[in-house]
Amino acid sequence: MHLRMSGDVLVLPSDAPRSHHLRFALTFANQTTLHFQDARKFGRLYWVADPQQVFASLGAEPLTLAFTPVWLYRQLQHRRRTLKPLLLDQHIIAGLGNIYTDEALYLAGLHPLQNSQQVTLLQAYRLWVAIRSVLKAGIANNGASIDWVYRGGGQQQHFNVYGRTGQACPKCQTSIERRIVGQRSSHFCPVCQPLR
Ligand SMILES: [Zn+2]
Repeated sequence: MHLRMSGDVLVLPSDAPRSHHLRFALTFANQTTLHFQDARKFGRLYWVADPQQVFASLGAEPLTLAFTPVWLYRQLQHRRRTLKPLLLDQHIIAGLGNIYTDEALYLAGLHPLQNSQQVTLLQAYRLWVAIRSVLKAGIANNGASIDWVYRGGGQQQHFNVYGRTGQACPKCQTSIERRIVGQRSSHFCPVCQPLR
């Protein structure tokens, strides 16, 4: 199962009422039922003999040992792509979404539109640190609560740029800008994240 922000999994007694957003139910011999609820239908459920049929196409998981600064640097060098869409590409890095990518780019001082090939080894290292740090902070805070569906913890209180368009950058007080990059909204500080 891939919950993708809006999915929810519960194991309930088999006679429990079913949510309006129930997409899949699996009843076990012990009279409990697994409910896969998903208001927005972003989530996915795969039924495969071998999990590798699903996982094989996924990229490196940022909190594993395979994700190193040098590996990240090489990916950026080889791909010559706009930085933010590259980071969101699940075939390259798995599990990095729009919010955490904006926050990581801010911490690393990198513009979302920068060409990946122009990122230096030192910048790639800073980006590596930033990606891991925003994900760890998000997990520690039980995620973010963005709206009525996307509910989690209190990470949104720690955002530096995401959803803060027009507000002051925490470092330099410049107004945070928002721009569409690769069909996703991107939030950044034009001073702390200059386009090189
Ligand atoms: Zn700034």
